[in-house]
Amino acid sequence: MELAQKLLSALFPSRCILCRQTVRIAAINPNIEVCRDCYKILPHNDNNCVRCALPLPVDIGSQILCGRCIKKTPSYDYSCSVFRYESDIINLIHQLKFGEKISYARSIGEILLASFESDLLEKHGAPDCIIPVPIHDRRLRGRGYNQSIEIARVMAKKLAIPIAYDAVVKKHSTLAQSGLNAKERQKNIKNAFDVINVENYKHVLIVDDVVTTGSTVNEIAKALKKNGVDRVGVLSIARAPVKN
Ligand SMILES: [Zn+2]
Ligand SMILES: [Zn+2]
Repeated sequence: MELAQKLLSALFPSRCILCRQTVRIAAINPNIEVCRDCYKILPHNDNNCVRCALPLPVDIGSQILCGRCIKKTPSYDYSCSVFRYESDIINLIHQLKFGEKISYARSIGEILLASFESDLLEKHGAPDCIIPVPIHDRRLRGRGYNQSIEIARVMAKKLAIPIAYDAVVKKHSTLAQSGLNAKERQKNIKNAFDVINVENYKHVLIVDDVVTTGSTVNEIAKALKKNGVDRVGVLSIARAPVKN
């Protein structure tokens, strides 16, 4: 750690965004405002589908595909969801999205970056750009920011790769995906995205906050591939187990 940074954290110790105590030992690195003990007990998504990162029962082993991926291969090539969408993570993401805790994006972005660097970078190489999943205009106006962009910013800066802000455009407005089942989500989002200005990108990383059934990121990946992108990865904070 640089001296200036050391001094700063000694003078202004950060508070853990989970337990609100002063962070004595930070999780992973000092830029993350989560203490090590809180980080350890988060629902880490350790057992998951090798393709879509769907949480799987503990005893099933690694390198396993889930039933959905066996039935139909997703349009993206790889994915990582750091956590299961459970317990403290639900609250954390809720605060980030709706509680105006935009500052959480820095810590969450750093956690995602650390996962990317340890799990994906060597295996899949660095992407040419990051694409945050767009949120609906009306929702963006209401909230003022897109949490996926805020997270992507942290990663893009550290990895020195661009964010393709306008590459994915929602063609028509869709219903909010929450409240729909897997089939309805798929239908609701089908062909909803247009892709522009991606000719310079061969390998794209899509960043999202929560992946539920995966139909949104899958549609974006499909549109990217139609437009000449070779390789698409998906990185998200959390993945929810599929209900039906
Ligand atoms: Zn804590
Ligand atoms: Zn899968």
